Amino acid sequence: MNQETVLVTGGAGFIGSNFLPFFLERYNKYHVINLDSLTYAGDIKNLSEIEDNENYQFIKGDICEKNFVLELFRKYNIKHVIHFAAESHVDNSIKNPLAFAETNVMGTLNLLEAARKSWMDQPFQYKEAYKNSRFHHISTDEVYGTLGKEGFFTESTSFAPNSPYSASKAGSDLLVRSYYHTYGLNVITTNCSNNYGPKQHDEKLIPTIIRRAISGEIIPIYGNGQNIRDWLYVLDHCKAIDIAFHKGISGETYLIGGHNEITNLKIAETICNILDQKVPRKTSYHSLITFVEDRPGHDYRYAINPAKITSELNWKADETFETGILKTIEWYLDKYLGEGTN
Ligand code: NAD
Repeated sequence: MNQETVLVTGGAGFIGSNFLPFFLERYNKYHVINLDSLTYAGDIKNLSEIEDNENYQFIKGDICEKNFVLELFRKYNIKHVIHFAAESHVDNSIKNPLAFAETNVMGTLNLLEAARKSWMDQPFQYKEAYKNSRFHHISTDEVYGTLGKEGFFTESTSFAPNSPYSASKAGSDLLVRSYYHTYGLNVITTNCSNNYGPKQHDEKLIPTIIRRAISGEIIPIYGNGQNIRDWLYVLDHCKAIDIAFHKGISGETYLIGGHNEITNLKIAETICNILDQKVPRKTSYHSLITFVEDRPGHDYRYAINPAKITSELNWKADETFETGILKTIEWYLDKYLGEGTN
């Protein structure tokens, strides 16, 4: 079979490692190369289920290395890019903003340049063999800044990033946009709300709550716990990426969210309720919830109106928060209590 090679960057991270098994299972027509530098956030063990898949190949490498990236496109005849790789943790971006600019801005620019040089003869003129080649950039709703109690982000909301993380993602989104307008590169950007599910790094909110709860440690919640995020089960995000990659209109942006606005405190309480039933202890897990000093510049609320991807591309979330959080807790209990193979 004549397979096309898709370069997936950052596939050993949380979302990428959920996306790759799903994508490989769904399509036989692609050879998928996962380019990941395996920072602290990447874990190759998250991909053990596909390591023997003949349509899959892992390459350890850094998207910030311009010549290496360009050579990779040539050597493996890359036809499409699905770009997840990023520095992604807001707290780390407050401590070390430079790494965020390097990977998220310069790394994305290196990939765009490699795609442009490999796929195009000149602006708006694709080489025949690459005429369907697409660059899909994965981004976040955090580029839009923060909301008050009312309203939703849409594709026409102005960028107003508030952390070095979201500012660097906004920079990368704008570079992707510029490659469409300046060179005619076939790009698409999806901006998703907060994801949760299996394989997320231990330091993130939901794994932290579960891990600390079952080890009897305090469950730290920033400020008064009233910050609101719009939570989406990671596999629903993967399904949206698949649809946007295949059916989205070139140059367009699609926001992805499942209308699950929940405060951080409510997340902690929901998890404690479930743990109280599944792995009861003498005193309820609720007693471990502890408010700690707020994150500087902590955005109050994110919420997405996903009307465009729903009506134009026919995507909708399959999981509710209730079903998704149960699956998630079961996965982490398996991991942390060592009852299974995870
Ligand atoms: P993650 O931090 O879990 O994974 C990032 C991956 O990128 C890791 O495997 C890491 O090793 C790799 N990486 C980092 N720097 C690299 C470099 N210079 N070269 C090659 N690989 C490198 O992130 P995630 O949560 O899976 O997020 C993936 C993408 O989705 C990011 O672009 C993020 O902005 C976006 N996003 C995340 C969320 C979320 O809730 N997690 C929501 C919306 C959008």
